Amino acid sequence: METQYLLIDADDTLWENNVYFERAFDEFVDFLGHSRLAPDEVREILDEIELDNVAQHGYGSKSFGRNLLQCFERLAERTYADHDLENVIQIADRIMHHPIDVIVGVRDTLEYLTARHHLTLFTKGHSEEQLLKFERSSLGPYFHGVEVVREKDAAAYREIVERAQMTPERTWMVGNSPKSDIHPALEAGLRAVFVPHQHTWSLEIVDLPAPSERFHMVDCFADLSRMF
Ligand SMILES: [Mg+2]
Repeated sequence: METQYLLIDADDTLWENNVYFERAFDEFVDFLGHSRLAPDEVREILDEIELDNVAQHGYGSKSFGRNLLQCFERLAERTYADHDLENVIQIADRIMHHPIDVIVGVRDTLEYLTARHHLTLFTKGHSEEQLLKFERSSLGPYFHGVEVVREKDAAAYREIVERAQMTPERTWMVGNSPKSDIHPALEAGLRAVFVPHQHTWSLEIVDLPAPSERFHMVDCFADLSRMF
């Protein structure tokens, strides 16, 4: 097989991420202790706040902390003090301090892929936070390059392919998010592989296209070694 350019997503493709946000959310719901709203209803309100803020503040645990704080201020049924607000911020801050939990099969598969193809980590979010996670994952040696963008839209895909002089027909995006990894890559004329993850963030889930020559689905990251 001719050398392919593989753009590989990070969060929930190479390592666990959203599960920590989900746990933080559960902790937040306990702390809020709302008398009427079920966790799902609190989640809907937080989703609204996140959607409103993402264009201005982007992704990452700091933005999540800001959103939780707004959610708390909107829903708290009791008078609260500064230390309550501080507690909410800390729930989000702890996300950053989890050890990096590399998904089973990822390391061996990257070792296989990097010997044959050109690998670039392509992730969105807060640059410093993403690069720190990458460093702590010790997956660095498998990648030829790293790109952190604010939003993975079609324009971002066109930009990286052009700048790094990748051939679109031989460039694949690999990731767990239909919204950020699959649709915009296909729109930019690239190919894509969907690697499902059960804890994918609700705001990333949209319908997938039908499988085709340009769009494949695998069951897990390790299956990539059969494709490439
Ligand atoms: Mg992801």
